[in-house]
Amino acid sequence: MASENPVGCVLLKEGRAKPFTKGAKPKALPEWDRDRCIKCGICYLFCPDAAITRVDEGYFDVTREFCKGCGICQQECWFGAISMAEEV
Ligand code: SF4
Ligand code: SF4
Repeated sequence: MASENPVGCVLLKEGRAKPFTKGAKPKALPEWDRDRCIKCGICYLFCPDAAITRVDEGYFDVTREFCKGCGICQQECWFGAISMAEEV
């Protein structure tokens, strides 16, 4: 039996997420130390805002527009490869 509930929380067309970027500037942004990073992807998985993406050579980096500076990625990194750098 089909549900009569309307579809919610789904962006049905590409490019429609743009209006939902966060407004406030974060106080700090994550920075990666590639000498410590083992490319496990835990930071990527735990970011609540999907602000972390895989970049060159399998390392990770932040998309500034989506990061709210919560520091979860830093806390979850087993190897201390992420530090939160204050934004000026
Ligand atoms: S959690 Fe740490 S070690 Fe793993 S990919 Fe992220 S920065 Fe690298
Ligand atoms: S600080 Fe928070 S929002 Fe920004 S990349 Fe890390 S986990 Fe994601």
